[in-house]
Amino acid sequence: MKLIPLPAFADNYIWMLHDGQNALVVDPGDAQPVAEALLREGVQLQGILVTHHHADHTGGVNVLRELSGASVYGPANEVMPEPITRLSEGDRVQLLGLDFDVMEVPGHTAGHIAYFCPDTGNTPLLFCGDTLFSGGCGRLFEGTAAQMQASLHRLASLPDTTRVCCTHEYTLSNLKFAMEVEPDNPQLAAYQSHCTALRADGLPTLPSSIEMERQINPFLRVDVPTIVASAQRFDAVGLAQNGAFATLRQWKNQYR
Ligand code: ZN
Ligand code: FE
Repeated sequence: MKLIPLPAFADNYIWMLHDGQNALVVDPGDAQPVAEALLREGVQLQGILVTHHHADHTGGVNVLRELSGASVYGPANEVMPEPITRLSEGDRVQLLGLDFDVMEVPGHTAGHIAYFCPDTGNTPLLFCGDTLFSGGCGRLFEGTAAQMQASLHRLASLPDTTRVCCTHEYTLSNLKFAMEVEPDNPQLAAYQSHCTALRADGLPTLPSSIEMERQINPFLRVDVPTIVASAQRFDAVGLAQNGAFATLRQWKNQYR
């Protein structure tokens, strides 16, 4: 199995997975990079997985469906480019001979889903859309902080080795914020240097891993005393009323 992040727009990745014959893609906001990759790799598009309704994740679906006849899968309760197969918590999609388990992870949007493949013949694989980013998490457009926190907690409970395929290259700006929040985390400082070097070479920082995210992502570490103290400094009243997670999310929204 080959896993390829296809850059799209300013900072999106459309993930492609293929076995040398058949391919799937996740969140194709644009058809062109996918069409080019299918030719380059010499593979047929068998399936399209969509995590949520935003245009930068769905914009290429209709063109790709027409071009390839691929089956399209997406969340049960969001506006989608029809026709698609609707999925809810616990559903399972079979593509490329692999099983993808559907998890409902509301927060960024109300109906956002993630796809988890426990066994790829290699390490497990997670397509989490705009829920979990490396070093950060999605903005709360439709959900509450409590929903997002619960969704991230479920994702963080997946196996350590799980490869985390997020849909945006936000890592460096997330890590700048993470360093502000938890400056005494040595793994975080080392990961920031590593990712800075990757970007300087024009390489993606993704996929990340669940193990790494548990070590460096402040949104998965809201119980750490340093992080609570930082949240307190930013907004003591907000911290007391809404907790550390909501306070961090609020802080990140205005952080430059
Ligand atoms: Zn989005
Ligand atoms: Fe997005």
